Amino acid sequence: MSKFWSPFVKDLVPYVPGEQPKLAKLVKLNTNENPYGPSPKAIAAMHAELGDSLRLYPDPNSDRLKQAVADYYGVSTVEVFVGNGSDEVLAHAFHGLFQHGKPLLFPDVTYSFYPVYCGLYGIQHEALALDEQFQIRPEDYARPNGGIIFPNPNAPTGCLLPLDAIERILQGSPDSVVLVDEAYIDFGGETAIKLVHKYPNLLVTQTLSKSRSLAGLRVGIAVGHPDLIEALERIKNSFNSYPLDRMAIVGAAAAFEDVDYFRATCQQVIDSREAVVAGLQAHGFEVLPSAANFVFARHPQRDAATLAAGLREQGVIVRHFKQARIAQFLRITIGAPEQNQALLDALGSLL
Ligand code: PMP
Repeated sequence: MSKFWSPFVKDLVPYVPGEQPKLAKLVKLNTNENPYGPSPKAIAAMHAELGDSLRLYPDPNSDRLKQAVADYYGVSTVEVFVGNGSDEVLAHAFHGLFQHGKPLLFPDVTYSFYPVYCGLYGIQHEALALDEQFQIRPEDYARPNGGIIFPNPNAPTGCLLPLDAIERILQGSPDSVVLVDEAYIDFGGETAIKLVHKYPNLLVTQTLSKSRSLAGLRVGIAVGHPDLIEALERIKNSFNSYPLDRMAIVGAAAAFEDVDYFRATCQQVIDSREAVVAGLQAHGFEVLPSAANFVFARHPQRDAATLAAGLREQGVIVRHFKQARIAQFLRITIGAPEQNQALLDALGSLL
């Protein structure tokens, strides 16, 4: 801390991302990246952009990408917002769409960036307990609030909330924004984007980091009523007019257009997930039902932190969270088949 800091900076508790190790030979199953690379068409589009055009600023509205998203989901471009990773899209939503003076509601086991943004933007919040099956209880959210946010599937549990339960949450809070963070929706869930024409208070965010395997490019999207999108645009244009660079706009648009590659690689991850679940169960783990590209598993007799450390010694990195209710779980990203096998073999030697 120094005398040059604004007073609020000393109270900030920033988000701590999962480790990004420098050693390439580690089996990296800790930050939910996709083992299959981005669409070859996305890579070709970025190669084509890499040249003299980088002299020029990018399109501040990212129209090419918005059109690709709008076409994919059958919505209008005025219902689409794009940003530098869904973390940035979420930041703008926290900044401008949640009311102050009433608590923002989210589950008590959820994406740990939410309380960080609450701290940054001075938003009160209340974390509501999940039920015994680690599921969100829609009826708990029908209470006064300044907004509601949850990932679907939830993170880090992987548990999916069906659309009818999401509708009950929306109907219980018609006067506040309900944000459904669909970072992992493509691995087995049904998108709430289908509901945006029915509920003007619904905002759905997604990322290209997971199912489209572009975590390194940093692109996220939001879909919702044009009034919600307009608020995000105003905030974005008061912060950074060009959040997406030229490579990101063309690469992300091509990734959305390459539907065949997207579907085939998502299906490979889903198939591998079933194999990992079976392997973990054979080792005695209890695994929560996952609709994501990771599983959340605990061993009834073994300490999760010790297991994570043991795996690390064998070159396999998974994620362990210290929060009391989930401290006995490991969050394991679904990797390529040989990575998944390396994980199961390493666990076998530790048990
Ligand atoms: N939401 C959830 C639930 C996540 O797990 C993540 C990834 N850590 C994000 C949003 C952010 O993804 P990105 O910024 O890479 O788009």
